[in-house]
Amino acid sequence: MNCPPDIQQDANQLKKQLEHYNYHYYVLDHPLVTDAEYDALFRELQALEKKYPALQDINSPTQRVGAPPIGHFVSRPHKIPMLSLGNALDTQEVSEFWQRLQRQLKFDEAQMATLAFCCEPKLDGLAVSLHYQQGQFIYGLTRGDGIQGEDISHNLRTLASVPLRLYGETWPPYLEVRGEVYMPHQGFAELNQKMQQQGHKGFANPRNAAAGSLRQLDSQITRQRPLVFSAYQVVQGCENYLTHSEQMKALQAWGFKPQALRQVVRGLENILVYCQQIGAQRAQLDYDIDGVVIKLDELMHQKHLGYRAREPRWAVAYKFPAQEVVTQVEAVDFQV
Ligand code: NAD
Repeated sequence: MNCPPDIQQDANQLKKQLEHYNYHYYVLDHPLVTDAEYDALFRELQALEKKYPALQDINSPTQRVGAPPIGHFVSRPHKIPMLSLGNALDTQEVSEFWQRLQRQLKFDEAQMATLAFCCEPKLDGLAVSLHYQQGQFIYGLTRGDGIQGEDISHNLRTLASVPLRLYGETWPPYLEVRGEVYMPHQGFAELNQKMQQQGHKGFANPRNAAAGSLRQLDSQITRQRPLVFSAYQVVQGCENYLTHSEQMKALQAWGFKPQALRQVVRGLENILVYCQQIGAQRAQLDYDIDGVVIKLDELMHQKHLGYRAREPRWAVAYKFPAQEVVTQVEAVDFQV
């Protein structure tokens, strides 16, 4: 379908706006709008690009993740791109994910009912990737733009939950583990109080505090910040495992801290029950989560389905409804 000039103009405007928000969110750790507002604009652009294929462009924010590193740190390429996740904004979209899987796997209802999914709370922090050779930590990167990340090894070394030497006797010769660095609520409150007592502005929310703390040039500052690394994926090194959940158990044995609330469930109904239960627990947790990540557990199926532009086909992030999102951006002082 031909794209009318006014639609082209709207799409360009949306792209510029999203790039601007990305820069403030990922590079400056200083979001200008709430995630719900960002997601609404993102969806608007996606819908236009779907309706008018002439608008599709590999440099569009809908095709990319994060933002390029800004040069305070050494950039390093990811051995395997570090992508994002597709999201489902309501239970209907989780059902659509389920139906897509069914079509792509060519499974009937009975086969779908036996499929295992590993469901995990979606931590709201900063994605990092850690590399180990012969059981020793060698370097760690931020996600950056998914192709290149920032080498923040000096800071990651200060986190007690990042093993510097893998625990146990046997581990893969090369291991790449990805996960989220976050700041628990109590540590965040204490840090902000301390900063304010010292005359500084506090951080807007735990995610910004985690991002700002991890991207310090001086690791002595990072060392004093209450950061936690929670592992959620093995990217290299456990190829002979059958399931994601077995990999998580192995990570735990090697000294990592995978999401304690993860659960393997079968059947769409049970996935939705899990999402609802985690949503109900959200306010009691000592860390921020913004949804649930639903992953096909069997690695063979993951491999078969693979990836599209910016996300795996075998997982989806169910995001909690927008009305539950605290308007975290307004009326708060930012630390840039
Ligand atoms: P995302 O946050 O929606 O999902 C992908 C990320 O989830 C992964 O990179 C990983 O870091 C994280 N994650 C947490 N727990 C996980 C688990 N158990 N398993 C796998 N991954 C897990 O995607 P994104 O690309 O990081 O960010 C896009 C989102 O960020 C947007 O949807 C928006 O909500 C927000 N954003 C907001 C602004 C803003 O200005 N407010 C700007 C840009 C992006």
